Amino acid sequence: MALAHVLGVPRIGANRELKFSQEAFWRGEIDAAALKAVGSGIRQANWQRQHAAGLDFVTVGDFAFYDQMLNHVALLGCAPARFGFGETLELAQYFQLARGNAACHAMEMTKWFDTNYHYLVPELKPDSRFSLGAQWLFDEVAEAQTAGFNVKPVLIGPLSFLWLAKEKAAGFDRLDLLDRLLPVYAQILARLKTQGVEWVQIDEPILSLDLPSGWRAAFERAYHHLNAAGVKLLLASYFGPLRENLLTALKLPVAGVHVDCVRGGDELAQVIDWLPATKVLSAGVIDGRNIWKSDLNAVFERLEGLHLRLADRLWLAPSCSLLHVPASLAGEAGLDAELKSWLAFADEKIAALATLKTGFNEGRPAVAAALSDNARALASRHASQRVHDEAVAARLAALTSLHDARNKPFTARQALQRERFRLPLFPTTTIGSFPQTAAIRSARARFKKGEIGAAGYAAAMQREIRHAVEKQEALGLDVLVHGEAERNDMVEYFGEQLTGFAFSQNGWVQSYGSRCVKPPIVYGDVSRPQPMTVDWARYAQSLTGKPMKGMLTGPVTMLQWSFVRDDQPRAATALQIALAIRDEAVDLEAAGIGIIQIDEPAYREGLPLRRADWPPYLEWASRAFRISASGVNDATQIHTHMCYSEFNDILPAIAAMDADVITIETSRSDMELLRGFGDFDYPNEIGPGVYDIHSPRIPDAEEMVRLLEKAAQVIAPEKLWVNPDCGLKTRGWAETEAALSQMVAAARSLRQACQRAVAR
Ligand code: GLN
Ligand code: ZN
Repeated sequence: MALAHVLGVPRIGANRELKFSQEAFWRGEIDAAALKAVGSGIRQANWQRQHAAGLDFVTVGDFAFYDQMLNHVALLGCAPARFGFGETLELAQYFQLARGNAACHAMEMTKWFDTNYHYLVPELKPDSRFSLGAQWLFDEVAEAQTAGFNVKPVLIGPLSFLWLAKEKAAGFDRLDLLDRLLPVYAQILARLKTQGVEWVQIDEPILSLDLPSGWRAAFERAYHHLNAAGVKLLLASYFGPLRENLLTALKLPVAGVHVDCVRGGDELAQVIDWLPATKVLSAGVIDGRNIWKSDLNAVFERLEGLHLRLADRLWLAPSCSLLHVPASLAGEAGLDAELKSWLAFADEKIAALATLKTGFNEGRPAVAAALSDNARALASRHASQRVHDEAVAARLAALTSLHDARNKPFTARQALQRERFRLPLFPTTTIGSFPQTAAIRSARARFKKGEIGAAGYAAAMQREIRHAVEKQEALGLDVLVHGEAERNDMVEYFGEQLTGFAFSQNGWVQSYGSRCVKPPIVYGDVSRPQPMTVDWARYAQSLTGKPMKGMLTGPVTMLQWSFVRDDQPRAATALQIALAIRDEAVDLEAAGIGIIQIDEPAYREGLPLRRADWPPYLEWASRAFRISASGVNDATQIHTHMCYSEFNDILPAIAAMDADVITIETSRSDMELLRGFGDFDYPNEIGPGVYDIHSPRIPDAEEMVRLLEKAAQVIAPEKLWVNPDCGLKTRGWAETEAALSQMVAAARSLRQACQRAVAR
């Protein structure tokens, strides 16, 4: 008898109930008891769904009011001491850790592996202590048991917890804290055992990373310790193959292992070879990272032999937690029926798991109808005219090295562009968006609802563009932008105008805390039926004699922030998008736009988890960017923008994008991010952000001058641009104007200083 389970499910509720009640709680509109009731309702519904589908366990501990790592900080009693909280946390204090309070800034947040989920980073110091803290996990276990469910709690393992934490003092290694941490984990396991728990899932996703040998070695010690608690441990790895960590994982003294058979599929044979004869193997065969139906018949072919061998030691599961997919297709009335038949959100993945379980245990005829439905859906996707566009395929096949390079090298282009634009030294610009005011949002909403027509909407947007242009002229900026008033989201805006993209109505995925995103679905070959931004850009340029920068989203970012096809390599999808963006850039140029920015904020996020996989990624990612950017003439200036990441380790790959100008985030790190520019001579022009747009604080000109002087130590002043860190859409106009006028003043004062230096 094969068993079935999930590693975790979405926790925001079918209709984002968690978000709305979190926010109501923060506004003081509901109390903690009311919020807890919403959480309890979501958990009960999730467990009920798993139970009703015939899964052998319900997973407990995957719920969190903000974040699962923060829950572990609470559970392990290690909230940062700077908050001054006691050992157990109130819900309100828990949120203060995540969001900050009057006295303390929030804990840092960072991306969870290569997903778009963000976790709160535990803060560790040499004197950090751990102790059994919040009792929530035990309460939730009891809650599920009372409701009659067979419970499998889930914990983030001690090594992944330490790895994902940050050392907040110099001169110590957080791995040294393991010995203090293990006794608390042992206590947690012992406590779960007294609650009658048989199996505990313990997640160690860092097993899919490049680990220093000391960390790998620590696994054995850690799991010997935890094994003594006497509960059965299912060690779960996911997000990639195990590679050199494979033997470590399989030999640990645990009762079972979960492996990612989607991303680590090639390793399955090896896993089976090394799997000790008593251990359970949880095979993650349903992709937890995308929204496509799995090929269930193929899973049967693949695992049938294994099932005969392992029998009830074979567990079936999604590859990872379903946190990263939307909850259910049930509400998707707007999606076209054919496309919908190809999709599986969390509920549908759970149903697929149930089909697999029945099929393995009762024989495939028992699920014949479900299997033939599945095969039919896959065949229709495979053959669909809407997926495959011969013109796109032909264009891709015809790509040569001519398409991914500008005509002339950078220095020649730079000369042409200087001649054309005659910009001053330290030219000033912004990153694209201006404040998205209530008026803008309401105009967009009314247009979507049909309350105003296209003409009325266009007029409203033109008013906004005119306003933004007037403000920029008054401020004295050198390169202007139209302000992006017409855009809700930088990916959705383009996706809605491209073929091959679809949008769900309710396909929300948690990004962090109460923040959810609704990623577009790339289902087919991508092309651009008509210009997407040209009218707005042309209008904006007509209002000013200064250069107006056209604004596009780059192929890698479009890919990274969408659910993408699994029937062709990511690189192929990226190239298709690149060609569509290239067409747009060429049309912008023809409409008289001389400077075009192609944003790639997600360029670094796309990096594979393992370093060995970086070079091929960087190769196709930079090529996709260059394809999007090199249809234009050499006198047209291409900008790109990136934010929120460490760039130094990929500087050569960023240089390989060959943008004429790059603007990047640096101000929050006091230009520390420019460190790498000392060693690597970045060839093109660069605008290191001089102020943090995420803070309402208005910096003064002197501060920005100081930052630019710091930048000038590693980058030649003739290459420097002056701009904020990122787009201004989240700010108000008053602060935006105040900050930009300081920024323009900073650029002017630097120019004067340079003139004085030349005169001397
Ligand atoms: N052009 C975009 C903006 O200004 C860039 C956003 C981003 O980097 N995430 O809003
Ligand atoms: Zn940005």
